[in-house]
Amino acid sequence: MERHQDSVLRQVEEQGIDYIRLWFSDVVGRLKSVVISPHDLEKAFDEGIGIDGSAIEGLTRSYESDMLLRPDPSTFRVMGAPPGGETGVMICDVFTPDSEPAASDPRRVLRDALSRAETKGLEFLTHPEVEFYLFNRRYEKGVPLEPVDQGGYFDYVQRIDGSRFRREAMQELERMNIHVEYSHHEGGPGQNEIDLRYADALTTADNLLTLRAVVKGIALAEGKFASFMPKPMIEHPGNGMHTHLSLFHNGTNIFHEPGAEYGLSRTARHFIAGLLVHAREYSILTNQFVNSYKRLWGEQEAPSYIVWGHNNRSALVRVPFHKPTKGTSSRVEFRGLDSAANPYLAFAALLGAGLKGIEEEYTLPEGAEDTVWELTERERQAMGIKPLPSDLLRAIESFETSELMAEILGEQVFEYILRDKRREWEGYRRQVTESELRTTFDI
Ligand code: GLU
Ligand code: MG
Ligand code: MG
Repeated sequence: MERHQDSVLRQVEEQGIDYIRLWFSDVVGRLKSVVISPHDLEKAFDEGIGIDGSAIEGLTRSYESDMLLRPDPSTFRVMGAPPGGETGVMICDVFTPDSEPAASDPRRVLRDALSRAETKGLEFLTHPEVEFYLFNRRYEKGVPLEPVDQGGYFDYVQRIDGSRFRREAMQELERMNIHVEYSHHEGGPGQNEIDLRYADALTTADNLLTLRAVVKGIALAEGKFASFMPKPMIEHPGNGMHTHLSLFHNGTNIFHEPGAEYGLSRTARHFIAGLLVHAREYSILTNQFVNSYKRLWGEQEAPSYIVWGHNNRSALVRVPFHKPTKGTSSRVEFRGLDSAANPYLAFAALLGAGLKGIEEEYTLPEGAEDTVWELTERERQAMGIKPLPSDLLRAIESFETSELMAEILGEQVFEYILRDKRREWEGYRRQVTESELRTTFDI
């Protein structure tokens, strides 16, 4: 830590950085930012920077609104094109005035989940594929959304929009030392995907906050608007955030077993079973909005049923093709997540559910090789296939009674989410929609 701090102080001085942004996340996963001058950096490391937490969703109860931000020096990045105009950025942990980690800080929730795994010698790695749409302008009431292009899956779109945009975003992320594995045009018009390289889950979650900020920033600079909303247009695919997961023990991938079916170890099978058994309970975290369920139930390659499969794109968990020559790269792809999730909370929940599967040695049911949407309801029932929650209310109901989720999140975050989501559902329910007017007005 000390060493990291010194090296940050040195870099700030040497590169003549004018100011430093301290970033953290609220419970919803929205990026919050405080700017400090380099003169205050040492103080920020030693004592923390005071903020009024009451203005931030879910961060504090009103009687304890003072909070401290402590930048994590290992997350230091330089943003903006050199030379000149550079800013330092660091992700922070949130503390109470008595220097206790804030119970409501989502980064704390993930840190705790990772340290519990670490006591068993386990390291959790994630690799997200982030989908988002580029629109010509911000949403305005009554104005139809206008994607920047009409391209499709893997299309090379010649107009500036798709490819130049992705190149700029990739360059900026690489400059910030955030490694991009891959990027391409996605299935929807104006839809893009950027995949981050494998890293430990805390680093990936931090990098996702940065990725969203970078993508939105570049879009705005070009007079466009980037949206990570789960399902902005009902007739087009949603923004999924498929995430590949793996678990290491002392540097060895314990999902891998040479010669086993799909290269999957027993541990991996228990882990997948955990993801399936608890899917309805954590769905409120991987798919946190009313709108998330429009993606999950809008087909277009988003999963709706709780099954796993090998190369089955309708499955919630997919075990990608494993080339024996690729060594020990066994992993599972979780396809439920959407791009608007709070990655800290979602990763903590997925890890917790998977570890529960390992501890309790849950049995993994048969994989599904059929496209689950094409089966009849009766066939699905006969195969014991359960649906994901069909809407936010069903997700709230499954979350509400989950001891596992309460344990992973801690009481404060758990309660906040319940309240906040009930409020969102009520707001959604108390409106008369276009579809009702169309079908019932004339009755
Ligand atoms: N956009 C799809 C989803 O909502 C995923 C498409 C794909 O990458 O397979 O999950
Ligand atoms: Mg994709
Ligand atoms: Mg994928």
